[in-house]
This record gives sequence, C-alpha cells and structure tokens, in this order.
Amino acid sequence: MMTKSIIKKILLLTFISAAFNAIADVDGVRVWQSPANTRLVFDLSQPHQHKIFTLQNPYRLVIDLGGNAKFKPNVDKVELASTLVTGLRTGRQKNKDLRLVFQLRADVNPKSSILAPNKIYPHHRLVVDLVEKNARSIESVQTIKTVADKVPHNKRDIIVAIDAGHGGEDPGAIGYRRTKEKVVVLKIAKKLAALLQAEPGYKPFLTRTGDYYIPLRERTRKARDANADLFISIHADAFRNSQAHGSSVFVLSERGASSEEARYLAEKENEADLVGGVSLGGREDHVAMTLLDLSMTATRGSSLAVGKSILKRMDKISRLHKKQVGEAAFIVLKAPDIPALLIETGFISNPGEAKKLATSSYQNKMAREIFYGLTGYFYREPPEGSYIAWKKQGGNNAIASSKTSKSSKRYTIKRGDTLSQIAQKYKVSVTDIRRLNGIKNNSIQVGQRIKLPAS
Ligand SMILES: [Zn+2]
Repeated sequence: MMTKSIIKKILLLTFISAAFNAIADVDGVRVWQSPANTRLVFDLSQPHQHKIFTLQNPYRLVIDLGGNAKFKPNVDKVELASTLVTGLRTGRQKNKDLRLVFQLRADVNPKSSILAPNKIYPHHRLVVDLVEKNARSIESVQTIKTVADKVPHNKRDIIVAIDAGHGGEDPGAIGYRRTKEKVVVLKIAKKLAALLQAEPGYKPFLTRTGDYYIPLRERTRKARDANADLFISIHADAFRNSQAHGSSVFVLSERGASSEEARYLAEKENEADLVGGVSLGGREDHVAMTLLDLSMTATRGSSLAVGKSILKRMDKISRLHKKQVGEAAFIVLKAPDIPALLIETGFISNPGEAKKLATSSYQNKMAREIFYGLTGYFYREPPEGSYIAWKKQGGNNAIASSKTSKSSKRYTIKRGDTLSQIAQKYKVSVTDIRRLNGIKNNSIQVGQRIKLPAS
C-alpha cells in the first residue's frame, strides 16, 4: 500500500522537477533475465521524463533522459552476462539529453513505468520490460520429466508447483550477514523439485528457476497452466522482532488473519510486486475476484490438510513458530481450484536461523521434510486417476478392475459445448477434465473424444 507520505513526496518531487527543470541522474542499473522477458531497472535521483525507442541493424534500445542528467554507475561493471543485452554505452545528445544505448540480441517491444520509492529501494525506479518480438511462444509450460514417466502405467503424475518467493529486483527479506530470502528459498525450492523428480508418480514444476521476479498473480497462473495439484510458495521472512524464530505454514483467508504476525507477514508479502518492479496500474475485476473466492472455498479443506501434514514433518527439524496452520490474505495463494500453501521456512531476521538457512545441509533437511509432508498427504488422499491412487489400490493387480470402473467414461464434443457445461452436466470439475485430457486454455474441438473423471 502506498502511504500518504510517499504520495506527498512524489507530488512534491514532480513539482520541483517541473519548477526548476531539475535533473534526474541515473544512480544505478540492474538487468534481470527471465524466460519471459528482460527487465532493466534504473535508480533515478527523482522521477523524470524519459523517451524510449528501438533501432534495428543491429537491434538496439535507446533511452533518452532529459536535462543534463549524469550516468553514475560504471558502464563496464553493469552485469549483462546471460541476458538479452550484449552491450551498453552512454552519450550526450545535442540538446544535452543523456542517451543510453543497449545493444540487444533480438528485436523487442519495450514497456516502461516509473515506480515510487519503498523500504527496499529509496530511489524512484524506471523499469523497462523488454519482450522479444519473435519469441516462439512467450513461455511454454515445462514440467520436468520424472522417473514415473518411464514406469509403464497410464496413470498421471501428481503435479506440484513450487514457487520460490521473490527474485530478481525483489530480494525478499535480508537477514544476518546480508543473507537474502530470494537466494535461500530458490535453493530449497530446487532441492524439493529434485526430490519430487526422483519420486515415481510426481512431477515438480518450478514457477521460477533463476534470479528474476514474477508478479504474484503470474505465479498462480503458471501453476494453473501446468495443471498443478498443489501450489507451494516458499519463503524465509523477517519480523520486526529479531527474536522471532521457527517455521510456519499458511493458507489463504479472506476473512482475516489468524494472528497479528500473520497479517504483518501477508502485508509484507503482498508488497512484493511493488518491490519486484511491477507497475500496479490495473484494477482487479470485482466479479472475477468474487468467483475466484467462491471456487477457493472448495480447495480450502485440502490446503489445510496438506499444510498440517507438512507442519508435522517440519516440527522434527525446527521449532515451530505456531503449532497450527496460520491464515491470512496472501495474494500469491489466490489460486482457484488448486490447494495452495505458503511455507515460512524460518525467520531470516533471526541471526541463528539465518545462519542455518544459508547452509546446504539445513536446506536439504527442510526440502526433505516438506517432501515427506506432502507425499504423506497425497498417499492418504491421492487424486483420482493418479499413479499414486493406482499404486495404493494395488498397482498392476488393480488394473483389471479399474478398467471397468466409472473413470473410463467418455464424451464426444458437440457443437456449442464448453468445458464448464460438460463439467456441470456430469458433476465433475473443469480442472479434473483438463488434467485427465491434457487440455490447455479450455480449447476443445467438435468431434473430439474426451475422458471424463468419475463424478
Ligand atoms: Zn517472503
């Protein structure tokens, strides 16, 4: 949330810059590369007019900043390795504008916005997102192939979306010895993914695999596109009190937070888009949000059950912060149809815990307990049609009976059909139909034969 004082500050600075035609120096530059885009971030001494355009042969991005602005960082020290940018030079236009020229590997569409200062970034930031014009697809959903793929069975894997919190421009909490939350949680997320990858019947999906920021809403959208059965967001936050310690598990609550701390943590997490460099211009469609909330009450029970199962395991390696699964309005947990959890692996603001969290052995332990907690839950409550459900029923011995079971019902798509109508008619969920048939984006064709889950 933007506080009144920040708003006042922006107005004041805009006024000053208009009145004195003040100059906005560039105090810092950062380049973040994600699979979907390249984000350039400039720390400005104040908000300022800028002009952006692209050139071809070779591909370049040009940013002109008005006035006699200075470029303070060392051009040679800007980290460009493995990004779309191959070079950066600065120059001065005849009208004294500062010109920044970025050499690029490909043609791009640039989108820019200026973000107000916040607790992490005291500067105004100019954020420029570059999306490649001829990228094959913005980002195809990729799940990692698992051992289960090689096991001959027709049963689907349980897909677990693992979301390493923060990333890129958003470091998350910064703890003892500058330990960054975004680094620690990505390591734990990757370790958890590796465990699931090696486990028959499971397929992990990482929302981010490197050091870049993804908007909160985008994280759950990715999980949906991957047909995830579960969404787990991994964090290691800070609290006002450095004595606070222990791990905790949270689920979404729209009705209010279960404790003062839960509310505080959710508020901090929900600021991530602001820190991460996302311009929050658009308003949420109210009707869409209401529908989202309604469909989420159905997954609430599952969220709580997986949460409890994981919390029980984490109790073995760390003192729990709270014995119960907490609740608060975390934006990142608003995933319709998907049980969603946020795990605080510890408080990075606590020196002892920050030290532990930074070690590979503790990260391994944490990943392992989360893994046991979630596989334990899925063994008790395996999703319909999954390899785990099949195995629980006795594997090969159960094949003969499962073939004649209700799950082999089929339906041929007729003109005018929609997935939601079919789902309603057969009293099954759209998500289950999509999962069972590998349908993405709700696209179906007349004459297509689809399998229906048992109602
Ligand atoms: Zn966090």
